[in-house]
This record gives sequence, C-alpha cells and structure tokens, in this order.
Amino acid sequence: MSDPSGQDNSRRTLPEGLRRETLAVRTGLPRSQHGEHSEGLFLTTAYVQADAETSARKFANSEDFTYSRTSNPTVRSLEARMAALEGTEAAIATSTGMSAILLLGMGLLKAGDHVICSRSVFGSTINLFAKEFGKFGVETSFVSQTDLAEWRAAIKPTTKLFFAETPTNPLTEICDIRALADLAHGAGAILAVDNTYSTPALQRPTEMGADIVMHSATKYMDGQGRVMAGALCGPNKFIRDIFGPVLRTVGMTLAPFNAWVVLKGLETMALRMKAQSEQALAVARWLEARPEVARVYYPGLASHPQHELAMRQQSGQGGAVLSFDLKADAADAARAAAFHVIDSTRVVSIATNLGDTKTIITHPATTSHGRLTEAQRQAAGIGQGLIRLAVGLEHVDDICDDLARGLSTLRS
Ligand SMILES: *Cc1c(COP(=O)(O)O)cnc(C)c1O
Repeated sequence: MSDPSGQDNSRRTLPEGLRRETLAVRTGLPRSQHGEHSEGLFLTTAYVQADAETSARKFANSEDFTYSRTSNPTVRSLEARMAALEGTEAAIATSTGMSAILLLGMGLLKAGDHVICSRSVFGSTINLFAKEFGKFGVETSFVSQTDLAEWRAAIKPTTKLFFAETPTNPLTEICDIRALADLAHGAGAILAVDNTYSTPALQRPTEMGADIVMHSATKYMDGQGRVMAGALCGPNKFIRDIFGPVLRTVGMTLAPFNAWVVLKGLETMALRMKAQSEQALAVARWLEARPEVARVYYPGLASHPQHELAMRQQSGQGGAVLSFDLKADAADAARAAAFHVIDSTRVVSIATNLGDTKTIITHPATTSHGRLTEAQRQAAGIGQGLIRLAVGLEHVDDICDDLARGLSTLRS
C-alpha cells in the first residue's frame, strides 16, 4: 500500500496477527496528509499525475490510481476491509450484489460451460444464470439445496462452477459448504458461495473450502438500508488476475460514496449480526409457542432440520432472518390470515428487503416469489400463509407485541 502523503509509514502500517474485531475498524488505506480519523471519501473520477513518465507507469500497473472505473482509494479501503473479514487474499467491490454475480460469470464462464446452482437461491440469481447467461450459451442445472446426490448427478464434463447460497430465503435451508466444495473440486469446478445472509461475522465459506465468496453488501454490510453494493472475495488468482480486468472493461464499479457508507457499516457489523441473531432467536421461540403458528423456519431453533450443520457453519448463530407459516385450511384463508397479521403491525416495516436495523415483514408468495406459478410456489414450499421477518434492533418485546396484534385477532 502506498502512502499518499509520502511520509514515514512505520506507525501507519498495522501489525500482523490482529483479530477480526480490530481489522473491521482499522483495515484500509493509510490516511491522507491531513490525518483524517474517519476514512476519507474520495469523490473523484481522475487522478493528477506528477509527469508523463509517472502517468505511463501508473497506466501500465493497474494497481495505481488513474481513473475511478478502475480503482478509487475509498473503494480500495472497502475491498481491503472485506478481504480481511472474509479471511481472503483479496476482494473486489461492485455496484450491486447482482453485478458481483455478473462479474463472477463473465470472469469464469464461456459459451458451452455448465453451472450447477441450488434452486432455492435469490430469485434474480436464478434469472441471471438461467436467462441472461443462457443467452450466451452457458447452461445451468438447478438442483436441491440440501440433497448432495442431486448436485453429484448434475455434474457434466463441462461443469465449471457450483453456486450456492446458505441459508436461503425465505425457508432458511442450509447447504453443507464443505461437502459441496469437495464435490466441486472433485469435478474440476469452482465453488462460489453467496454469503449475504450470514456475513463473515458468522460464516466464512473459504475456511470450509469455498473458492469465492459473493456478497450483496446492500444488506448486512451496510446494515442500515442506505446504499447498494456488492463484492467478490477470494484469492488473487481470481480477484486480481481474472475479475479485476473484467470489471475495468465492463464497469460494474462501486461508487465511492456507497463504498464509504459500507466501509463504516463494517465497523459495527459483528455487533449488529450478533444482536440481531439473538433477537431473531427470541422471536422464533416466541412464535413457535403461539397456537396460530404452524411452523417456524429458523436455523437457530433445535426444531430446524439442519440445526447442527447451521450452528457449525455459522459460529453458533442463526442469523437475523426467519419465516413462519400460519395455520389455515386453504390457500385463500392462509393469504387472508397472513395479510391480517402483516397489516396489523404498527412498528415493523412492510417492505421487501432485509439487512436493516429496522425490522421488515414480507409476504413472499405475493412479492419476492409473486411471479412464480402456484405450482412452482408449492414445489418451493412458499405457501400463502408464509410470512418472513428480517429482525432488526428494536426491543424484542416490541417486535413480538407488534406480531401479537394480528395473531391474537385472527378468526379461526
Ligand atoms: C439482495 C440479494 C442479492 C442481490 O443483491 P443486490 O445488492 O440487491 O443486487 C443476492 N443474493 C442475496 C442472498 C440477496 O439477499
């Protein structure tokens, strides 16, 4: 890392072996000559060079700052901090989570290649692989989130990439990262894991064999619902050598302002994830005891079918997202009941997002999964009585009271 002030650097370089809590608040580029304590926000598209010779050298070496589509000091600080938290050699920031997956595909795949992906991943991820990459001759097989045999059966000689997300939305199904990594590597393929839900505060997929970690930093990394951002984390042989050149050409670059917001979000991420996970567990237990609730989906509950795997992979935390099914005989009644519970809330937000300090309540069947046919929804386990809750930082009793308003006035 170069010191922009050109001053003595000895007190500015962090010692080796620092713990993650320290890295989360300290990792970044060195301060400018002004000594700002909070990281600088560099809103600039170009960089002035001392002379033509220097300019030529910097353009030849893409590690230097020349133009902000290529690199920017604020974005570079964020990338360093993300890599430190995921425990990877490097990270590359992108404008959104989806553009991180676009960058992943453009960097690794060509016409004729094959991808295996869980069918329970984020909806736009399915569209990106099936429709958009499909147009360019990349084929994707969608398989069970939890049944390893389906992944194994889908392997072809052209399989280049396994793509997984764990836990999934809204049913919080877990896949076994270590087992998928072994399977992918045995087939000569790469495993990429969408770690948006857990963040490196809970789960570090590369420690379990994954090659690349993908993030929608829009969610818990920002953590307060302000900006869109994404990232890929992994070794230099992917990040610097493959994804860097593609991003420079294609331009799914993260804006410096958004990078700065996420950079500051990372300083409190571990605290938020821990607190929000504890609150989600309390709400999940409370819901499980309610007579109006048929089933609660939350990895932190002992009743979750993959509770032990989840606890092992996610540092003993369930994360902040849970879903629950209301008791009802028919789809119409289930939808009416779900709408009643949602509409009776006065504190939590009715929205389709997650990763915020404000609790968000969602009806998946008519929003995130609204474009599926009823048969596809049934197959995915997304009933009309299903409600998703992304638990925030309000007092947990106020969240439960807000849900009780509708639950206790349901007509049975
Ligand atoms: C939101 C989300 C994405 C897409 O990220 P954007 O920042 O909205 O583009 C991808 N994966 C998961 C799990 C998400 O929740």
